[in-house]
Amino acid sequence: MCKFNFDTTYTQLPAQFYKIQNAIPVLSPEVVIVNHDLANSMALDFSELDKSQQANLFSGNSLPKGIKTFSQAYAGHQFGHFTMLGDGRAINWGEHVTPDKKRLDIQFKGSGKTPYSRQGDGRAALGPMLREYLISEAMFGLGIPTTRSLAVVKTGEEVFRETRLKGAVLTRVASSHIRVGTFEFAAALQDKELIHQIMNYTIKRHFPELINKSSNLAISLIEKIIESQINLIVEWMRVGFIHGVMNTDNMALSGETIDYGPCAFMDHYNSNTVFSSIDRGGRYAFGNQPKIAQWNIARFIEALIPLINEDVNKSIKIGEELINSFPELYEKKWLEMMRSKLGLFRELREDKNLINDLLTWMQNNNADFTNTFIDLGKGEQPQNGIYKNKDFADWFNTWKIRLSKNEKSLEESLELMNSKNPQIIPRNHKVEETLKAADNDNFNPFNKLLEVIKFPYKNDSKNSLYQEPPTPDERVKETFCGT
Ligand code: AMP
Ligand code: MG
Repeated sequence: MCKFNFDTTYTQLPAQFYKIQNAIPVLSPEVVIVNHDLANSMALDFSELDKSQQANLFSGNSLPKGIKTFSQAYAGHQFGHFTMLGDGRAINWGEHVTPDKKRLDIQFKGSGKTPYSRQGDGRAALGPMLREYLISEAMFGLGIPTTRSLAVVKTGEEVFRETRLKGAVLTRVASSHIRVGTFEFAAALQDKELIHQIMNYTIKRHFPELINKSSNLAISLIEKIIESQINLIVEWMRVGFIHGVMNTDNMALSGETIDYGPCAFMDHYNSNTVFSSIDRGGRYAFGNQPKIAQWNIARFIEALIPLINEDVNKSIKIGEELINSFPELYEKKWLEMMRSKLGLFRELREDKNLINDLLTWMQNNNADFTNTFIDLGKGEQPQNGIYKNKDFADWFNTWKIRLSKNEKSLEESLELMNSKNPQIIPRNHKVEETLKAADNDNFNPFNKLLEVIKFPYKNDSKNSLYQEPPTPDERVKETFCGT
């Protein structure tokens, strides 16, 4: 049976940080999918529950005894503007601790109104919840830090957005739900003790190695957050992932990708690519993601100003130095990652130009981001289609010369490339196609895509359909939050 092992610490924080809130029951819950692999990795087993028991559990109609669900308070800069927020349609079951001592939040999304719902209905629609399930599993398969999805159930109720949609509840698993916005919330209440409490809590939960080691916990925490966010964004840039809503309330301090809204993977390379229908100004475009991460961390540092130094002017100076370290640290990590995509060993001065020249060529020629790296990883000069091009041939020659300076074999380079360049990404037109079918109760395309994206580095000719970029007709230009 499902042996939950709850040890919830978040509700020991001061009362301002959360509100006890039950799931609002739903009419006729029906299981769409349960992630048994994820459950196993958490030492949980839901396979003995029948469909109706699973549906009752994952809709919140019947939760295990002793669980006291709660919604978290937070704030956030949304598209640059500060707002007090909180879980408007989410409740946390608490923290399940696995036998190998991993502490994981289990959370419902779409479980009904909470004290933080503002004008919202507290509900979620099936399409966006399945999108989160699919993309978070894809990110996990790609080896990128992410929250995961344990289940999706249909509620049997309708939600009203631009149109009537099927309602659903997603069960999400995360290392925590502490956000940059959680610190902004504490800072907005202008209560130094609250900032202290959430800082100590975050350190204990995510960076316990700092306790008794660091002479200034605020500075050490900021350094850790800079490092983990850089690692995360570099990984997004490696696979062409565009988050779409990098508001500070959607940046988790665990370093996991969180809140899959209008996110998407880029097909042809263009650093200005935006999919989100609500991102009219391109604030969260592909190429802006590192700058936005830096901007968000600046908001995080601002919240911690009272704890950096007794003297506020000194705090600000230290904070500025910390935030100004971001671009150089980011570039170093990004170059490391791009070198691996091109099979380059050693660090040579010429690498940055080589990498940027390829990206420029890709952008000028509408080259598919994923497939270009796959083609380069085949070990021979690609000759067909867009590669019949003098600029490309020139670039390819320069790359060959650079490879010869690796002091490693070509096999080793290709092996490195193929471990970093996915064969399969969940292409947006495929995602949309499967969600459309799922909305009409045909879950076969969804399940098939899910199987394929679980092993994104596997080279299997059977999956070639999932590797093709969209035709002009298939191209999806906009994705909707559907909140
Ligand atoms: P998001 O952009 O999905 O991260 O959501 C931003 C804020 O709006 C969060 O505080 C959410 O909890 C809240 N929110 C989103 N959708 C709804 C909804 N349907 N009902 C209530 N609150 C919502
Ligand atoms: Mg959010």
